[in-house]
Amino acid sequence: MADWKDFFEDNKEHFGQFLDSLAERRSSKRAHEALPVPPLRFCPLCHAAFIEDSELAIHIRSLHGQQYIYLRVNGRIIRDLGWADRGISELRLVSLGFPRVQVEICGPQVHKFLDVRGDEDLKRLVPADFEGELTLRVTPPGNRESQFTIYSRSLPEFRCEALDALIQTMSLRCFEADHEPDIIEWRERMGETSALENRYLNGFFEYTLAFFLEKTRQFRKAKEHFEEAFGLLLPFRTALSLSAQCVLGLRMNCFGVLAKAPSKSVVSSLDVFFNKPFPSN
Ligand SMILES: [Zn+2]
Repeated sequence: MADWKDFFEDNKEHFGQFLDSLAERRSSKRAHEALPVPPLRFCPLCHAAFIEDSELAIHIRSLHGQQYIYLRVNGRIIRDLGWADRGISELRLVSLGFPRVQVEICGPQVHKFLDVRGDEDLKRLVPADFEGELTLRVTPPGNRESQFTIYSRSLPEFRCEALDALIQTMSLRCFEADHEPDIIEWRERMGETSALENRYLNGFFEYTLAFFLEKTRQFRKAKEHFEEAFGLLLPFRTALSLSAQCVLGLRMNCFGVLAKAPSKSVVSSLDVFFNKPFPSN
């Protein structure tokens, strides 16, 4: 398991930049330089990584069969959670292979039910200056519901330093004392949490549990929890989360993900090793 200490300090520098922004590609070069490296685009169904959304869209269409639902927000396909810091300019729901899907869209001052066929931009249902949490529940008749959450303009509380400190303490304790981590104990220590804080905590709990299961040779269960951790942590861009994603990327033989490694972290040398083997660094 990676050593947290190296990038714990990095995290403080990036306080307030804890979610991957849907607007980042349009931000100024200067602002861009101050942030961690923009992440790759991950397939919402498998862990394949892509640099461009267009490549991801082709992958989804060609590899995942005829039936699939995805949501495109501000030009990017989101997995299950998106952060539109400058508001929502596109909310395109695409359903492939279903004659129609039932959609429930809700948030502050928005609550609607509708049927969508094929491909439809639902932006018109959301006020122009919408702020807060927007949830879309999409159900193809007879199939499982998919849920998407978008935060627009503002985010719930996120106590990054407190969370990182707790995660560090609890995961170290788990590995030093060799005892299975207990989510109830993690939650009790953190007290009341926002939806985002809860997701972050769960992501790192799954990460810690997966390593514990691997250490105790329960490989099949470990694999499930590695994947769960990866999905939960993907939208976060704290230094701790980006580093965990790099470690998870290694477990899944997806070396491209290492480009996300914070420059001072131990995993960034792996990025150099796998992705930039020839320059002098
Ligand atoms: Zn895929």
